[in-house]
Formats: sequence, C-alpha cells, structure tokens
Amino acid sequence: AKQCGRDTVRRFSKELNVALLQKIELIKDLRQAITNKEFYLVYQPIVNRKGVVTKFEALIRWQHPEKGLIAPDQFIRFAEESGQIVQIGAWVIEEAKYALQKIRQAYGRDIQISVNVSPIQLSNHQGNTCDFLSSLLTTFCEPEQGKNGLVVEITEHLLMNLDESTRSALLGFREKGIQVALDDFGTGYSSLAYIMNYDIDYLKIDKTFVQKLDDESSSISLCEAIISMAHKLNMSVIAEGVETEEQLDLLIEYGCDYLQGYYFSKPILLGEALTYCQDKQLK
Ligand code: C2E
Ligand code: CA
Ligand code: CA
Ligand code: CA
Repeated sequence: AKQCGRDTVRRFSKELNVALLQKIELIKDLRQAITNKEFYLVYQPIVNRKGVVTKFEALIRWQHPEKGLIAPDQFIRFAEESGQIVQIGAWVIEEAKYALQKIRQAYGRDIQISVNVSPIQLSNHQGNTCDFLSSLLTTFCEPEQGKNGLVVEITEHLLMNLDESTRSALLGFREKGIQVALDDFGTGYSSLAYIMNYDIDYLKIDKTFVQKLDDESSSISLCEAIISMAHKLNMSVIAEGVETEEQLDLLIEYGCDYLQGYYFSKPILLGEALTYCQDKQLK
C-alpha cells in the first residue's frame, strides 16, 4: 500500500511537471505570437428579438506555427499570469476598431462590437493601465466615428475585486459612450449592490444556464429571474450559448433582449461576418 501511494505521488508530480513545462513553453511562444501575426479575431453575431444582428462579439484565436489552432481557454489565463494580456489586449482593441469600421459599412452605424477585456488590463498591477485605457478611449472616441460602437465585456470577478483605477476606468467608460456588459453572469458571486453601483448596460447569461433550459426547471427559473431583475434595474440581457429552438423560444418568452449562439452562427471570420445574412427573421 505504501509503495502504491508513493507511485501515485510520483505520477502526480510528473503530471504536474508536464503541465508546468507546457505552460512555460506557451508563455515563451506567446512572446513571438503578436510580432509573427499568429493571432486573429473571429466574430459571433448577437441578434435582437426579431433576429436582426445588432452586435458582433470579437473572440481571439491563436494559430500556433507547430501546435495548430489554440483556443483562448488554453492561453488567456497564462497571458494574464505573465502580464502579456496587456499587449495582446491592445492588439485586440486595434483589430476590433478596424473590424467595426468594416462592419458599419456593411450593417450601418448602429451596429456594435463587443470585446472581452481582462481584469488585468483594467487594474493597476502592471503599471500599464493608463496606456491601455487611453488607447482604448482614443481608439473608439474619434469624433467621426459618431455613436460609440464599443461594448466592453468584463467578468463578475472584476467587480468584486475593484481597485481605484479600475473603478475610475469603469466610470470613464460611461462618459465616453462605451457600454459595459457583465459576462458569465450567474457563475460568480456578485451582489446586486455591485451591479447597481457601476451602471452596467448588459447582463450576459452564461451558456451553462442556457444549455440546461431544455431539461432543468431550476435553470428555467434562474433565467427567468435574471431577466426580470435586469429589466427592473434598467439593464438588457444577452443570452449566450443558444443552440436549440427550444432554448430560443423560452428565452424569448421570458423577455430576453439579445441572443447569441450556434443556433444563429458560430464565430466567423470578418469576411463572412460582413455578408452574414442579417435579415434571418425569427418566426
Ligand atoms: P466568453 O466571453 O464567455 O465567450 C463565449 C464562448 O462561448 C466563446 O468561446 C464562444 O465561441 C462560445 N460559444 C458561443 N456560442 C456557443 C454555443 O452556442 N455553444 C457553445 N458550446 N459555445 C458557444 P471561445 O471563443 O473559445 O472563448 C472562450 C473564452 O475566452 C471567452 O469566453 C472569453 O472569456 C475568453 N476570450 C476570448 N477572446 C478573448 C479576448 O480577446 N480577450 C480576453 N481577455 N479573453 C478572451
Ligand atoms: Ca464574452
Ligand atoms: Ca460566458
Ligand atoms: Ca468565459
């Protein structure tokens, strides 16, 4: 039994080392990724209750020269740990700005682009906060751009660990006409007090809840409650991960304002986004 335990420990520490080495290697590879142009963005349509596209969410992809396509869940947290997310995030904003111009030419000026922003980008830890924020704000606040087309998606986690600079960043968004969406809503522990303090424009119901809508009554009442609460607080609701007609019907019934998911479209390249059929009306 003792031998067996020791083997388990050995195997465990070996696995840990493998994970650690992989992480170190990824962080090393991330250094070249921007200069080698290995990142690109894909865009997922967000539709209103009539099925009309009103926004696109920008999602990053990493085409690694040897490892192939790497999903953000596999590298964003490492980029956050190493601080590289600051540089990557700045690239995302630049790219999103370019995409917004193209998308507006195709869809009109009311369309928006929604960008995921890591807490690290908004907080003070790296000392780069002002750079990021000022570049973000100037990027999206040129007078000729008219109505601001940017939605910043943040996570609940951010609201609970607010430092002074993040707080003022969030308040600054409002002045500049940038909208804020609270991502992954329902997975964290944010209280209503946090949300009410920061003038959040959208709550995004996490896909784990949307996907249980078909069969779990607890999920049904949760979605219903989130939507009615959000509306009472003057926020709109975006449901993510909508895959089936059944989920769609329930969300529409409960008054959900915007919908996003494979039912409508997977995230697509900019060229495809520009021609994505925008009049796919709901019945
Ligand atoms: P998220 O912001 O919650 O994005 C939604 C994720 O759900 C995306 O995964 C999207 O492709 C996926 N999704 C959309 N519709 C469906 C559906 O109907 N079914 C299923 N099963 N999945 C769906 P993705 O693109 O792999 O991104 C994962 C996470 O990585 C994002 O979660 C976000 O937290 C992060 N991320 C992506 N791009 C960026 C970025 O540019 N910056 C930062 N900081 N984080 C990013
Ligand atoms: Ca998001
Ligand atoms: Ca989510
Ligand atoms: Ca997420």
